[in-house]
Amino acid sequence: MNSAVRVRFAPSPTGFFHIGGARTALFNWLYARHCGGTFILRIEDTDKKRDSEESVRVLIDGLKWLGLHWDEGPELSGPHGPYFQSERQCIYDNYLNRLRDYGRAYDQDGAVWFKVSGKPAVIHDEIRGEVTRLEEKDFVIVRSDGSPVFHFVNVVDDIDMAITHVIRGEDHLSNSSKHVEIFQALNVATPIFAHIPLILKTVGSGKMSKRDQGALVEDYKARWFLPEAVRNYLCLLGWSPKDDREILPIEEIIALFDLKQISKNNARFDEKKLAHVNGEYLRKLPAKAFIDFCTPALKCAGLISPKTDSSHLENVLTACQEKVRDVESLPNFCTHFFTNDFPVDEKAREKIFKQGNPLVCIREFLGALSSLRDFTEEDLETMVTKLAQSNNCKTGDYIHPIRFAVSGQSVGIGFYRLLCILGKDEVIKRLEKFLQTTSFA
Ligand code: GLU
Repeated sequence: MNSAVRVRFAPSPTGFFHIGGARTALFNWLYARHCGGTFILRIEDTDKKRDSEESVRVLIDGLKWLGLHWDEGPELSGPHGPYFQSERQCIYDNYLNRLRDYGRAYDQDGAVWFKVSGKPAVIHDEIRGEVTRLEEKDFVIVRSDGSPVFHFVNVVDDIDMAITHVIRGEDHLSNSSKHVEIFQALNVATPIFAHIPLILKTVGSGKMSKRDQGALVEDYKARWFLPEAVRNYLCLLGWSPKDDREILPIEEIIALFDLKQISKNNARFDEKKLAHVNGEYLRKLPAKAFIDFCTPALKCAGLISPKTDSSHLENVLTACQEKVRDVESLPNFCTHFFTNDFPVDEKAREKIFKQGNPLVCIREFLGALSSLRDFTEEDLETMVTKLAQSNNCKTGDYIHPIRFAVSGQSVGIGFYRLLCILGKDEVIKRLEKFLQTTSFA
């Protein structure tokens, strides 16, 4: 444990939360939790044109959704605040004066320039090793309109917030020599850096951009992905537990995580794998948690209302859990449990009517139902098995058309369970209606 570790996620609000940023936040958070250190959220909102409260909200909501709670930052405050760069002008003025005093800042053409040392800057990077770069030219740190430049405020804040480790995207590696120069000019020891390799899009060699499918955290939330699953998947983009496991409890990832283990190679985004991880998480959730997570999705789809019988809802969702691949498609998968006006899969209909006598089978089933004592999964199964035997056909000859008639689908939860959840009256009603309305009858 090293409680002196202080790391930060320092996003510039852009109006969306890219998964690359989310992964950077995650690696900072993991490292802080691994070391028992402090995770800071700092909003780098110096670009007045682009920044807005709404853009900050997207970041804050996304971080909270992923469970990446910060120890210091917006909404919490802390000893090194304010945590919005737009509110830290006095601090920047102070540091600028110091640079002027040391003869490392000067005015030219209305802007303030930083005077480089002429010596190569050494960047200690936990992933890249030691990187040496010479910053040859002086550079602007305050523009002529008075607004401070990213390199300057970024370093000032890292000093002022006592940041020990700078974990960020590899696209900033080339900035690091400028940053090291400023640290040294202010007589402050440079932090340890860890520049995380980029995330490439699923195909090709391009970097994942905000336009790529699956690039935004807010989309996963809107599509009812489980945040724990998305977080687990993001952990795998550049880090692995080295034993082929992909699905791990977050506590275990925290215990294993270290900066030195982060891969030097670019990570490739794989939406299919993310969907797979999400499915695994969904199926493994405790039943109650699954129900709590899915209920709002069904509500949003207009399938249920406060009047919906809660034990019926529970039965449906419990039965769906083992089959579910994602919650986005769950409303379609279970519409027929909540209304008899459900969509019908026309391809499934074609298949049903291609062979055998589906309508005859449905009639036989209805006939046999009248002598069935208990409408239970077991008894229904025994009844269908006997029907098939005595009519010299397969149980599937009953199961497929009946499933289709009561649900409009050829797939779904276990057949007998489907019937029991719908209940005897509803099953009879739907089968009779199906017989009446099917033109082949
Ligand atoms: N505001 C910068 C960005 O969003 C932060 C860079 C850093 O982490 O130092 O890329």
